[in-house]
Amino acid sequence: MMPLFAPRTQWFDLRQRLETENVDPQLSSPFYNGRIPAEIRSLIFEFAVTESVHPDAQVIKPDSWVRQSHDPAPIPEAPESSATDHVARISKWTADLLRSSLPPAYRHGHPSETRRPEHGFDWLRFDNTEPMRLETSLLMTCRRIYIETWSLPLLQTEQRFYCRRGPGADKGERSNIKRFITDRLSNPAPMSGLKQKDLVRSARLFTQQFWLEDTFLQLASTPAWFTNLEHLRITLRRADWWEWEREETLRINPFRGNCFYKHTVDLMRRDMSTETGNIEFAGAAWGRAFSHMPKLKTLTIDFETAEDKRDEMEEIVAWALKWQFPLSDGRYLSTDGRPASKLSWRGLPHHWSNQCASCHNLVHNIVQGNGCHKCSEAKQLVGWGYGPQLLVWTCLWKPVQNHEPKDR
Ligand SMILES: [Zn+2]
Repeated sequence: MMPLFAPRTQWFDLRQRLETENVDPQLSSPFYNGRIPAEIRSLIFEFAVTESVHPDAQVIKPDSWVRQSHDPAPIPEAPESSATDHVARISKWTADLLRSSLPPAYRHGHPSETRRPEHGFDWLRFDNTEPMRLETSLLMTCRRIYIETWSLPLLQTEQRFYCRRGPGADKGERSNIKRFITDRLSNPAPMSGLKQKDLVRSARLFTQQFWLEDTFLQLASTPAWFTNLEHLRITLRRADWWEWEREETLRINPFRGNCFYKHTVDLMRRDMSTETGNIEFAGAAWGRAFSHMPKLKTLTIDFETAEDKRDEMEEIVAWALKWQFPLSDGRYLSTDGRPASKLSWRGLPHHWSNQCASCHNLVHNIVQGNGCHKCSEAKQLVGWGYGPQLLVWTCLWKPVQNHEPKDR
């Protein structure tokens, strides 16, 4: 009689087992008979297990829309196929309208139409796409290659997460970091005592402010987080800022945490104006999260917004460059005087806010002759598939031994 429950899969250490067995030295292979130097062999193996873009992935083209500066970008011209595309879009919208019971206010360019995961909201970027694929068949070639490459896929892959808003059904498997680590990266690694997640060295978080401010510290202080993380990149996109849809004032504060309420704007300005730009961290402030990452070598934060918010963000970034984050051993993360690097790109239609930055009308309610020239321009660009010019400031923090005196 069959057992009622199948026995659990027994994990064993394949690497350890192979090392106690006979392994063919593969001397007939150019990789191992001296024809290809070991350094070149390593590079080839690393390349073989590097992530690549899946053929079904959406990508942003052309690359020329990405510039290494914040110079104002030229206004795009109508794409050649726009007339056909426009007709196709209108037909699709009509079909959608018939299928659903959208309110009568539904108009061309309504945010609910453009802010959808299948349109890239908010994961598709000039520097990011999904799905990616990682081939691991190299590891199965032979025992000798396995012993040499078993750790590469996790060691060298940057794990990216969308923090509650990613591609795919149910926001995608990478939208919930804790679940992804628990379900996908918590099996034993081929090295005694290590879990797969312990091999991860690099992670990128695309995070809305509410996740950064309310969940990040909590997750980083649990065993579910990456114990050996060395490189962390946090990207705050155009659509991640509190109330960006209503063009509200940008605000962020790693010393105090949640910035949902508007009085936090005044608090931020007060903290900005202190002599060192640093104040004592509140107990639950997200700036404490890095003290739970003992191996951290670099922290990168991207600050992104649209062209009309340039001045506000300039001010925030100037302050951010002064931020010092405590690590667990008395050291601090510091930008150490390094300036922010700047780039810009032409965003997607969902990057327009609901409200015109110029006349404050609701852009999607504007009809001909009602609204300013900025509204008309935005509506036209949405029709052609374009968003506003987006500006990105990227700041880099590294651990320092001695830090400047702080306001504390
Ligand atoms: Zn306007």
